[in-house]
Amino acid sequence: MSGVHLPDEVDTIVVGAGTGGAAFTGLLAAHSTETVLLVEAGPDYGHFTDGRWPADVLDAKAIPLSHDWGLSGTVHSGRTLDLPRAKVIGGCSAHNGCTAALGAREDYDEWARLGNPGWDAATVEPLLHWTRDRFRVRRYRMDELTSAQAAFVRAGMSTGLPFADDLDDLEAGVGIGPMPVNIVDGVRWNASLAFLDPVRHRPGLTIAGDTTVRRVLFAGSTAIGVEIDSPDGARTVRAGRVIIACGAYQSPALLLRSGVGPAADLRALDIPVVADLPGVGGHLLDHSCVQLDFHGKDGLLDDLARTPWHPDEQTVGRARSSRCDNGPYDIHVFMVAGANSGHPGLPPISLYGGAMRARSEGRITLRSNDPHDLPRIDHRYGTDPDGYDRLVLSEAAELLRTMTTQPELAAILGREASTGDPLDRIVNYCHPAGSCKMGPGTDPAAVVDARGAVRGLAGLHVADASIMPAISRGNINLPTAMIGARIAAALLDITPVDAVLEQA
Ligand SMILES: Cc1cc2nc3c(=O)[nH]c(=O)nc-3n(C[C@H](O)[C@H](O)[C@H](O)COP(=O)(O)OP(=O)(O)OC[C@H]3O[C@@H](n4cnc5c(N)ncnc54)[C@H](O)[C@@H]3O)c2cc1C
Repeated sequence: MSGVHLPDEVDTIVVGAGTGGAAFTGLLAAHSTETVLLVEAGPDYGHFTDGRWPADVLDAKAIPLSHDWGLSGTVHSGRTLDLPRAKVIGGCSAHNGCTAALGAREDYDEWARLGNPGWDAATVEPLLHWTRDRFRVRRYRMDELTSAQAAFVRAGMSTGLPFADDLDDLEAGVGIGPMPVNIVDGVRWNASLAFLDPVRHRPGLTIAGDTTVRRVLFAGSTAIGVEIDSPDGARTVRAGRVIIACGAYQSPALLLRSGVGPAADLRALDIPVVADLPGVGGHLLDHSCVQLDFHGKDGLLDDLARTPWHPDEQTVGRARSSRCDNGPYDIHVFMVAGANSGHPGLPPISLYGGAMRARSEGRITLRSNDPHDLPRIDHRYGTDPDGYDRLVLSEAAELLRTMTTQPELAAILGREASTGDPLDRIVNYCHPAGSCKMGPGTDPAAVVDARGAVRGLAGLHVADASIMPAISRGNINLPTAMIGARIAAALLDITPVDAVLEQA
């Protein structure tokens, strides 16, 4: 038996307590007295001060693999790649690199221009700042970095990139410097600590860990609850509305299992069709990357360990490709130097160049109608018809190569360990998005409208990274929290400004 008493019926069920689901729940619970059940497939370790959080999940130095879903997918030319995703309260924010970016003003103005009123930068800015405050983001100084990361910054500056210490600003342009992070005294300050801890005491809120939703239940075209696997067995819970926030891989998978998606695909798997929505699982975006690996100078890991603050990833450079849009940059360069725990088996130091406006679209499909089967993920990196992604990645690789000629960085990197063309082995930045695209009724690929409501159905919303109509040009944790909060504000019928006025 679990320690949590599951209600039979609530006003709102939120499925998934990751970045989007936690921010949604935090805002909803703070502003209403309605009953809310937040269900999460992974464990709930409770309030930070309860002291039950595992050390590896809190330790921001490296990415832990202890709570991973074990997903993998096809990425390019039939290669498969592990696609890390956390199964724990806080979701991927509980095992991520903690770099905190807001994206650029142009990103959100584009979302609005694509037919999504209320998502322009001026409207969502108060929510973005709220998420940055709640994640307790702090900017670091050069003298706090490891010598390797400081050398990476200086190498970027030697190529002409200006020094930047404002990379968590909506207005930030090209530049290189220490990346602001949501790390508090070495602790990865995840979305559960940021958004759920302040509302855990609210009487209407129940949080159930180790509870997985199999499918959403409908009466006609209205969502009326969910079917779950809980520690106490399988059962149903009825709800006035269902919010799906399972992340960009699992949200479309849950919709498909529930009969919402391309009708022919659903029929082929004997899933009764509730709504024929061809866009579900399509339009899967990510920031694809090129990767250069190095052996590192002798004693590198010991040197790194001597710096008190030494996460693997500490700095970011931003640059414009020759085909950059009207936004400030479309390339990220960064270095992962240290235990490299997110990528076991790799040398201790790697350089990455990311296409931050990548346009290649992948797809999520189901393998079967068994709710316990993990979805099939095909990312199709570097396949956009205009060749934009590959061009940006090749220019990112060129920038990295120029940086590696700078003597201080070259000495730290040592011999190169990777061989061949990095474009033949494009990798992921772990920022999947867009697979339940938000858009107007005229967009045949749109899955949800600007209020996050699933098209053609009542009582069903999506509130996570999967609704991004285009990927924001930065690490997407904070933008995803903003999405959760924005959908909650819309349901509460309050403005973003009123939404972030702190509650008693
Ligand atoms: C290794 C890694 C490093 C990253 N580093 C950074 C970084 O440094 N900076 C940054 O900004 N971003 C980073 N990201 C990306 C960022 O953390 C994610 O984009 C963001 O957390 C996604 O939020 P989400 O709400 O869309 O999904 P998630 O956070 O994945 O949340 C989905 C939740 O739903 C749960 N769930 C799924 N299916 C079910 C179900 N059927 N029933 C119940 N629960 C379910 C999952 O267990 C999970 O907790 C990183 C991601 C990874 C994986």
